[in-house]
Amino acid sequence: MQHILEGNRRWVESRLAEDPEYFHKLSQGQKPRYLFIGCSDSRVPGSAITGTKPGEMFTHRNIANLVVPTDMNMLSVLQYAVEVLKVEVILVVGHYGCGGVAAAASNKQHGLIDSWLTNIRDVIRLHETELLRIHDEDQRLRRLVELNVMEQVRNLAKTNIIQNARTKPNPPQLHGLVYDISEGILHDLEVDTRDLDEFSHIYSTISKPAAPLDPQVQAEVQQQLQQQHSKGKKQEAAQATEQNEAKQTA
Ligand SMILES: [Zn+2]
Repeated sequence: MQHILEGNRRWVESRLAEDPEYFHKLSQGQKPRYLFIGCSDSRVPGSAITGTKPGEMFTHRNIANLVVPTDMNMLSVLQYAVEVLKVEVILVVGHYGCGGVAAAASNKQHGLIDSWLTNIRDVIRLHETELLRIHDEDQRLRRLVELNVMEQVRNLAKTNIIQNARTKPNPPQLHGLVYDISEGILHDLEVDTRDLDEFSHIYSTISKPAAPLDPQVQAEVQQQLQQQHSKGKKQEAAQATEQNEAKQTA
C-alpha cells in the first residue's frame, strides 16, 4: 500500500511542477471527447496507451471488453457518456493475448465467469466458418479477438441509446480497435456498423413513419375507393329493390 501512496505523491508533484493550476482546473468538471470500452487486463490502460490526459476519456472496462445488452453497468456508462457528456467518439478496444477470449475458446470451466464468456462463445458461433479455416491456434485466437471487438461495436449500434443518438445531430462515432501488447500499437479494425442496416427490421427500436404516398398513387387510391363506394351503393340499391319486389309479390 505504501508503494501506491508514494507513487501518488510523486505524481501530484510532477503534475504541479508542470502546471500549478492542474488539479484546480480538473476539479471544475469533465468534458471528455472519448468513451473507452476496454478489457480489464492490467496491460491495457486506456489513457496510457492512447496518450490522453485525465479529463479526456470516460472509461468502462470489463473482462474481454464486452458490450452486453443486459449489463446495467455498461448501459449506465454508455447513456451518461452519450446523453450527458456527449462524447464524440466511442472506442471498443480489445487486445491480442486476451485471457478472457482464450478462456472462451477453450472447452473448460472457469467458474462464475463462464456465463460472461458465453457472449464470446456466441461470437465464435457466428464466425465459426471463418475461424475453422485458420489452422494455427495463435492466429485463430488473434482473429477471434478482432471478431469479438467487431461484434461488440455492432452491439453498441443495437442499443436504443446509440439508435436515439443517431436520430439527432452529431451522434458519436463508433470505432473498434485492437491493441498489440507485444509492440504497443493500436490497430483500427475499421468496423462499419452499416452492415447491420440490412437487419434494421430486427434490431431497430425506432419505428419509421410511413413514407408519404406519391401524389399520383394517392389520386389512384382515392379513385379506387370512390369506385368501391359507388359500387357498394348500387348493390345496396339493387338489394333493396329486390326485397321490395319480393314483398309485393308475397
Ligand atoms: Zn483481455
